[in-house]
Amino acid sequence: MSFLLPKPDGEPLTIGIMGGTFDPIHIGHLVTAEEARQQFDLDFVIFIPAGAPPHKDARYISPAEHRYIMTMLAVVDNPYFTVSRLEIDRQKPSYTIDTVQSFIKIYDHQLNLYFITGADAILDIISWKDCELLLDSCYFIAASRPGYSFGKLKSVLKSVSPRMIKKVHLLEIPAMAVSSTFIRNRVAAGKTIKYLTPEAVEQYIYKNGLYIQGQNEV
Ligand code: ATP
Ligand code: MG
Repeated sequence: MSFLLPKPDGEPLTIGIMGGTFDPIHIGHLVTAEEARQQFDLDFVIFIPAGAPPHKDARYISPAEHRYIMTMLAVVDNPYFTVSRLEIDRQKPSYTIDTVQSFIKIYDHQLNLYFITGADAILDIISWKDCELLLDSCYFIAASRPGYSFGKLKSVLKSVSPRMIKKVHLLEIPAMAVSSTFIRNRVAAGKTIKYLTPEAVEQYIYKNGLYIQGQNEV
């Protein structure tokens, strides 16, 4: 299946997009995307590293090219995964609605779009401002993440918009209590990160001296 061409039978493509800082990408992201692909029968998943996310201004974020290359290294062995430069090539910070609408334009509406996120991030992404427009544009998949209860999430979603319950699918994934923050802090402390991220990403981090002490405040 080509990442850009429509299906030979003329059926619309079903695509998952997963946005994130990916500083660095880790097994939590990869397991979530793979589980979403299988359960929602996605033709492929596109990872979209963020350019300069406004909500993360507080800490130093690795240069976009490093985050893009690490994401590429992590997905290279999965034929259903690819990476987009859409957000990192933009001059200004991207909002989810802009990214979603760019994809709809690229695929000329021949598209079922699922935005994949963790249960912690879904409410940041579907801001009150863009909520109805986003819900018109795509579905959401919110993956379980240790520390975030689906029960509480459901009631908040309902209070934002009653349509959320139809448009946001909750996805139970094998519990992954790993985060990029956890990995950055372990590198800074000289602790192993083996198996928390693909080996090529681990090697890339060491080769480029990423996450050394002083750059990792949460
Ligand atoms: P940081 O610690 O820097 O915030 P992160 O691990 O949360 O990093 P992000 O790049 O912020 O990673 O997350 C991108 C997306 O992946 C978000 O939707 C987030 O909820 C989801 N995600 C990250 N880690 C996990 C995990 N372990 N399980 C499920 N979803 C996750
Ligand atoms: Mg996060």
